[in-house]
Amino acid sequence: MNESVQGIIDSHCHLDFKQFNKDREIVMEDARKSGVVRMINSGVDYSTNQKSLELARKYDFIDATLGLSPNTIEGQNEPEIKRRLEQIEENAGQALGIGEAGLDYYHCKDAGSREHQAEVFRKVIDLAKSLNLPLVIHSRDAEQPALEMVKHLDKVIFHCYSGTLVTMKEAVDRGFYISLATNICRSSHHQILARNVPLDRLLVETDSPFLSPRRGRNEPSFILDSVRLIAKIRGIEPEEVAEKTAENTKRIYNIR
Ligand SMILES: [Zn+2]
Repeated sequence: MNESVQGIIDSHCHLDFKQFNKDREIVMEDARKSGVVRMINSGVDYSTNQKSLELARKYDFIDATLGLSPNTIEGQNEPEIKRRLEQIEENAGQALGIGEAGLDYYHCKDAGSREHQAEVFRKVIDLAKSLNLPLVIHSRDAEQPALEMVKHLDKVIFHCYSGTLVTMKEAVDRGFYISLATNICRSSHHQILARNVPLDRLLVETDSPFLSPRRGRNEPSFILDSVRLIAKIRGIEPEEVAEKTAENTKRIYNIR
């Protein structure tokens, strides 16, 4: 087994998902043994928001963000969207941030559905703004349009950022944060992003159970793979990547 790196924060994961139903506690324990001190669990819809809040209540090393993912709104009617927005608003006091929410042009190809995504995203943006909480953006093949929509916000995190260097620079120049996921281990484009993102704007995440750097399901402990790779790419020690990204995560989420 590899040596651990202390003090890592997995800034985005989904430990409430069914992929962890059989061994959730073991997965968390493995993460902690690997040096992951905190995991931020992101809700995507009503039930996952509820489960994220439950996890955050139960474990002091888990925090929640409350979201409304573009990939969960297809075919959902107005009252259901409203119910989810109200849930986010009512429970925001127990959350670190709002999201994930955003635009997913990869999964959604037609103009009407994209407009629907934008409409819902706009409502989530308004909510994050009025609650003065960081917004966690899910954007896939839609980083620039997502950025255009949040330019009036102060606190923004691009979760699993996968866009261009140009958009990344624009986001960073606005003071926004770039979260790179464990898929950097198998993507040369993401490795270029990892080389170029300013270290004081970088967050790391697994997006578990997705985006595994290994085979099969992803887990928060696998974040070590990307922490080590980012360190190698940048010619610094893994401990420095862990320390800086944890500092950044605490800064943007106002974690003490
Ligand atoms: Zn996610």
